[in-house]
Amino acid sequence: MNVPFLDLQSQYKQIKREIDIAFQDVLSNTSYILGKYVKRFEDNFASAHGVKYCAGLSSGTDGNHLALWSLGIGPGDEVIIPANTFIATAWGATLCGAKPVFVDCDADSYNISPEKIEEKITSNTKAIVAVHLYGQSADMDKLREIADVKGIYLVEDAAQAHLAEYNGIKVGGIGVSASFSFYPGKNLGAYGEAGAITTNDDELDRKFRMIREHGSNKKYNHEMFGHNYRMESLQGAVLDVKLKYLNEWTDKRRAIAQKYHNRLIGIDQIILPKEMSYAKHVYHLYVVKISDRENLNAYLNNEGIGTGYHYPIPLHLQPCFKHLNYQKGDFPISEDLADNCLSLPIFPEMSDAQIEFVCEKIINYYNK
Ligand SMILES: *Cc1c(COP(=O)(O)O)cnc(C)c1O
Repeated sequence: MNVPFLDLQSQYKQIKREIDIAFQDVLSNTSYILGKYVKRFEDNFASAHGVKYCAGLSSGTDGNHLALWSLGIGPGDEVIIPANTFIATAWGATLCGAKPVFVDCDADSYNISPEKIEEKITSNTKAIVAVHLYGQSADMDKLREIADVKGIYLVEDAAQAHLAEYNGIKVGGIGVSASFSFYPGKNLGAYGEAGAITTNDDELDRKFRMIREHGSNKKYNHEMFGHNYRMESLQGAVLDVKLKYLNEWTDKRRAIAQKYHNRLIGIDQIILPKEMSYAKHVYHLYVVKISDRENLNAYLNNEGIGTGYHYPIPLHLQPCFKHLNYQKGDFPISEDLADNCLSLPIFPEMSDAQIEFVCEKIINYYNK
């Protein structure tokens, strides 16, 4: 049996008819950028997250940049960022000319540790970026309390966390803004590059829409500096078709995670992901921790099972941040995770036989 890490083919086959119609519709309207298809998706995505506004963008990375840019963050400013995340979380700060200041993650949630933030805050700190990593919300009440006391912004990087919840509230409107990615492999994936940014704040939404379109509020009148961060109509049309299935797909991810949990819980060598009491985890990734990762990984790959490491190098040890002078040992929990994490296949179309196959191989490996 073959179990890919994710399977975009089988999802496409399932919705092919609707997608083909949506594509044809966009093509015959010759409306390629923003327009009614993107608008419809924006409205539906905002309401799915219980948030007032959503602006369609060209990527999640652009969303991270736009979030801090719109708040006026720039050179001389510092932004608190978890050490354990995908690199694009840090681009928001660096593209604004601000300095990313890294913080270790929590040993249970693998998200930024609120307890370790305060010591990193200086008079230059302007924002905390809360990443809902692997699909699990960060501890937003604690983060908000710090942000409020210090008078700084709390923004969300929700690239991996469509429909995830914190204490029953959907991510996307908890911080001042939230950026989402629709990279094809994400829980809601476009057929190319796409992203979005959500907010409940009227003024911020106005800025998002201006900056994404060259800083203009009307054509050829450029009120502020901007960029081209617009979503393509084809992506909006695809995403709007797929959004209807997202609740169902999220339930399937959660059911797969539960099956993994039930089958693997007895293996002492494996630390399974923990769903925190405040979180509804949407399992973009199912990340286990083990000390002999390389061997188990090679064994699983050899059996036809796709896996991944998310992420093998924490941000403070990335070559591009060498100038910030972090050392190995600065963030032991993130470093331990980077060395020992292994992501198992998880995608809504995964069959029971495939889940069982992965579990059996892991159990066999440890019984050898
Ligand atoms: C995927 C991802 C991004 C970037 O999104 P793109 O759409 O690929 O630009 C940002 N942050 C996190 C945590 C991500 O996983």
